[in-house]
Amino acid sequence: MSTLRLEIVTPERKVYDKDVNMVVVKGVGGDLGILPHHVPMVTPLKVAPVKAKIGNAEEFIAVHGGFMEVRKDKVVILAESAELGSDIDVIRAEQAKERAQHRLNEKQSEIDHKRAEAALQRALTRIQVGGH
Ligand code: ATP
Repeated sequence: MSTLRLEIVTPERKVYDKDVNMVVVKGVGGDLGILPHHVPMVTPLKVAPVKAKIGNAEEFIAVHGGFMEVRKDKVVILAESAELGSDIDVIRAEQAKERAQHRLNEKQSEIDHKRAEAALQRALTRIQVGGH
């Protein structure tokens, strides 16, 4: 089975660097499945799990926004933060989720509302990936 290289990088570190068979991401325009020899492209990503397929196995990485660049047999994801399931503290994410939900129930400015929604989405993504 042919492979492509998946690299996930944050300002602090390289979170993921492996040969995989397929990458599935949530782009701002919808879900995208990237196979080897995909046409080159750049797209912003939503805060969501990224799925890497390796043979029959699947690995999930929590990716908090950023961009994906598809080049010849290489996918590079640059994000403000990203975590492997094994790096995720699910209890911390549950607490972040509760804080965000609490803030969303309060009357607040639009900017605070957007911030709480983004925090909620990060927490939900971490819970999904960390609980896998
Ligand atoms: P919290 O409110 O729990 O700090 P947050 O969404 O505000 O969550 P971020 O600003 O997105 O946190 O991330 C700050 C740093 O902490 C990043 O390096 C991120 O990878 C890490 N991080 C955040 N939440 C978790 C978690 N639940 N498990 C492991 N690492 C986390």
